Amino acid sequence: MSSHVECASKPLPTDYYGENVFNDKAMRQHLPKTVYKSLKQTIEKGERLDPAIADVVASAIKDWAVSKGATHYTHVFYPLTDNSAEKHDSFLTPDDEGGAIAEFSGSNLVKGEADGSSLPSGGLRSTFEARGYTAWDVTSPAYVMENAGGIVLCIPTLFLSWTGLALDKKTPLLRSNQAVNKQAQRVLKLFGVETNLPIAANGGLEQEYFLVDRDYVMKRPDLLIAGRTLFGAKPPKGQEFEDQYYGVIPERVFAFMVEVEQELYKLGIPVKTRHNEVAPSQYEIAPLYESANLATDHNQLIMTILRRVARKHNLVCILHEKPFQGLNGSGKHVNYSIGNKEIGNLFEPGETPHDNAQFLVFLCAVIRAVHKYGAFLRATVASASNDFRLGAHEAPPAIMSLFLGDQLQDILDQFRIGEVKGSRKKRIMNIGVDTLPPIPADPGDRNRTSPFAFVGNRFEFRAVGSSQNPAGSIVALNTMLAESLDFSATFLERELQKNCTLGEAVQKLVAFIVEEHSAVLFNGDGYSKVWHKEAERRKLPIHPHTPDALPVFTSPEIIDLCTRYNVLCREELRSRQEVYFEQYIKTTHTEAKLALSMARTNIYPAAIRYQTELAKNAKVLSGLGIENSDKLLKEMSELILKLDMAIRELQVQIDFDPVDEKERINVQKNPGLAPNIQMTEAEHCRSKILVAMQELRTLADSLETLVAEDLWPFPSYQHMLFVK
Ligand code: ADP
Ligand code: MG
Repeated sequence: MSSHVECASKPLPTDYYGENVFNDKAMRQHLPKTVYKSLKQTIEKGERLDPAIADVVASAIKDWAVSKGATHYTHVFYPLTDNSAEKHDSFLTPDDEGGAIAEFSGSNLVKGEADGSSLPSGGLRSTFEARGYTAWDVTSPAYVMENAGGIVLCIPTLFLSWTGLALDKKTPLLRSNQAVNKQAQRVLKLFGVETNLPIAANGGLEQEYFLVDRDYVMKRPDLLIAGRTLFGAKPPKGQEFEDQYYGVIPERVFAFMVEVEQELYKLGIPVKTRHNEVAPSQYEIAPLYESANLATDHNQLIMTILRRVARKHNLVCILHEKPFQGLNGSGKHVNYSIGNKEIGNLFEPGETPHDNAQFLVFLCAVIRAVHKYGAFLRATVASASNDFRLGAHEAPPAIMSLFLGDQLQDILDQFRIGEVKGSRKKRIMNIGVDTLPPIPADPGDRNRTSPFAFVGNRFEFRAVGSSQNPAGSIVALNTMLAESLDFSATFLERELQKNCTLGEAVQKLVAFIVEEHSAVLFNGDGYSKVWHKEAERRKLPIHPHTPDALPVFTSPEIIDLCTRYNVLCREELRSRQEVYFEQYIKTTHTEAKLALSMARTNIYPAAIRYQTELAKNAKVLSGLGIENSDKLLKEMSELILKLDMAIRELQVQIDFDPVDEKERINVQKNPGLAPNIQMTEAEHCRSKILVAMQELRTLADSLETLVAEDLWPFPSYQHMLFVK
């Protein structure tokens, strides 16, 4: 039974879960009671920290962190790139006697100065006033991170300009939570529901990723620099058999996953699920849902830990949306709901007709929001890398539609025709909410081809890319929903003033929304061509590529929406558009340059070498005068000719540099170009550069199938994708 004893002595996740987080338990232990209460209040209500207690809290956090071995602290913030940013400062303060003590004041905790002038701001700060500041987000707890022997206290923060403009992804998220809270409370009040806690978004973020042996990645400049393969012939066995999905996890990968989970548990991240995904070497990790703000911070940590732990196992974790052409890409499903601890989830169908009426109002608000502002939602997932995934037959298309499932759809359809009889086959009931039928808790069938699906008690937004910070999409969802709830509350209030019952008012509202906004509802196959035609007919916005999608950020409608609910002002929207355009252009330029250099200095020489080898061999053979060598020689010269043609074609393609056409402006040297110049350049990237890169790739990939494997300069898909 010794093995049993051994197991028992191993620490369990429950022993160390959250040990590196300054969580409720730590706060209670380290803070005086009154301070604890005050801080707790601040956190729950999402209010400002009372400056009078900041020093006490700071000192307690420092003592706690030092007891964990921390020597430094950092404010962690989330700039407009998809990564998080940090600047470490030591606690160390020299004393008068030649020694040093550890110090950390309230002001160090609450506010930091971050120059960060090289981070993209989209013109929100010019370099002479580059200072930005970071401000503690009390709702996301501080934690200590161990890395390479160093231990750092990390404090999640907002990142703002001196004038208070948001330079980050967290600030708008918190603002949008406030917007949704205000409008949801208005609706709830009409239903007689009151709550002292703010209503906010919840998020369950499923993260997909690839794992590739580090030795292979080191030999592939494309994977190293661009995070995706720019070349690579299709392997004989791809994902055709779908035998990878939910399959047995290879041992080496399993060891990696276990270590990732241990690290994440220490950070209080409730990882729940791990499994193989559809493509070979593709996996998924999913924590339980949390407040969307915390879930987003945690998602950043998950990505960091995935990358870091992979290195220890001589693997590379690839978070790019489409690392391998011809195989499924990686996404990040955002499971979205709103509510709070006191009143629960507002997208949960209720038990009573009254609850169901409330549910229907919130559901319809989402339908209206996605119909009115789908293009905004779509713009939040626009990036060079996600363009390769959306609509590529494994991910939803870039058309925003909403899947309800047959039963709910059926109920809504009945509202439109004016008779509510419950889900199919039930007897006809009177119109009016008092007799609303129970709403099925399980939507039944699941539709994986929909970008936005109702899944029983939440919506699942599936268009977010695996490397993206999901905050942008959550901000859009919150803001769109706030506007829709505002509309609904006003509608209901007006009807109630006309002496309608609440039931009748809801009936009218639901019927109105179903009538006006049903065009966004689609239960069919989102991957099919027919849907594109149909979506066009329904006048839904179709923005297949980033350059089509990004201009929406500064459309009058979106500026109006975001300013009205104090989420993002015109300048902040403009800056985001500018930064995202710049990222798109830079990414495409860099990849194009890289592809050309790989083709010129690796692929072309390999093809020539092989051709030479064959030619030499042919010459030697013909000199030997062996019997029957004619047939062999003929076959060989056919191959040489085939290679020759492919090489010539490749040569033409590598002589053309789509990035450096003289008449065009080099955007990389001129960040912050006027929007119209950026748009033109982005369009050029899409219609010329990416097309030229694909042509180059097709030629190179066909050469890969001709040239001897030992001469080919890069590990093949086959080798990279089936590591065990
Ligand atoms: P799937 O079938 O899509 O793979 P999973 O069970 O893997 O589903 O993931 C579902 C995610 O949705 C989990 O992160 C889960 O915690 C989250 N989730 C569940 N309920 C809610 C909710 N009310 N709001 C937000 N997210 C939720
Ligand atoms: Mg999912």
